[in-house]
Amino acid sequence: MTTVLTPATPLTAGDRCDRCGAQAYLRVVLISGGELLFCAHHGRKFQPELKKIAAEIQDETEKLTATPASAQENER
Ligand SMILES: [Zn+2]
Repeated sequence: MTTVLTPATPLTAGDRCDRCGAQAYLRVVLISGGELLFCAHHGRKFQPELKKIAAEIQDETEKLTATPASAQENER
């Protein structure tokens, strides 16, 4: 598996997990062609399997941990 440094199309709120329909944070490009989208939960769950069949995994789950300061202020 090679690491592709070409910036891929960023995932948007319109991209949905193939399993549950939540917002997708991982795009998996398959060796066989085609691609799958997963939310963070399912991306983690299937990652061991995905690594066997993926040509490239675009992981944007770090977006989830980068909580905006404005969101934290609402948590009082
Ligand atoms: Zn999901």
